[in-house]
Amino acid sequence: MTLSRRRIGVFGGAFDPPHNGHVALARAAVEQLGLDELRIFPTGQAWHKARTLSDGAHRVAMSKLAFAQVPGVVIDTREVLREGPTYTVDTLRELHQDSPKAQILLIIGADQAETLHTWKNSTEIARLAILSIAARARPVSDAPPADISNLPPGSYEPINLPPIVVSSTEVRTLAGRGYPIEHLVPPAVARYIAEHQLYQRP
Ligand code: ATP
Repeated sequence: MTLSRRRIGVFGGAFDPPHNGHVALARAAVEQLGLDELRIFPTGQAWHKARTLSDGAHRVAMSKLAFAQVPGVVIDTREVLREGPTYTVDTLRELHQDSPKAQILLIIGADQAETLHTWKNSTEIARLAILSIAARARPVSDAPPADISNLPPGSYEPINLPPIVVSSTEVRTLAGRGYPIEHLVPPAVARYIAEHQLYQRP
């Protein structure tokens, strides 16, 4: 009897705050990729984000609230706790060491996929994980992006997600101006932002 390999999804982001697009992507990933587990990684200080992120404790707390209803989700805090800038390759190496037999699927939005070739050790990333790319504002094709098209067979699995036009930037801007955000984030996240007065202008 052959046991199928455990499939672990890896979904990283600033999640400052997590919004409905993130949650829809997480759900689609679990369902379409047949994941046994989806690890959500709020990032430490992401090397490619110029802005200083909100406190990691807030982003972890909001991620717990946002993804609570998605089956198989585990909020993994190791990137928030790690010293220095966050590099995806470090996290994938650790996961591979922890679970050498598992298949690791790296889940990213199409905007991130376009810059993947600039990430630290991108070739190693593509070796350690199957890339799973979801549409952001426009549909994603069945082929991997051109810059990573020399991937070996089986190392790319697209996610079909109707484009959901929302970003954390939009949520922060609206919250900062005192406008409603309930249509963009899960209700518990909207309450958390209000209670902690996040994203308020000084
Ligand atoms: P910001 O506006 O602060 O840059 P963001 O909305 O892009 O934030 P991130 O936390 O940076 O959110 O995104 C984490 C991951 O989720 C990335 O891979 C990104 O491509 C993906 N993502 C974010 N928003 C969406 C969306 N609306 N649809 C699909 N994927 C998304």
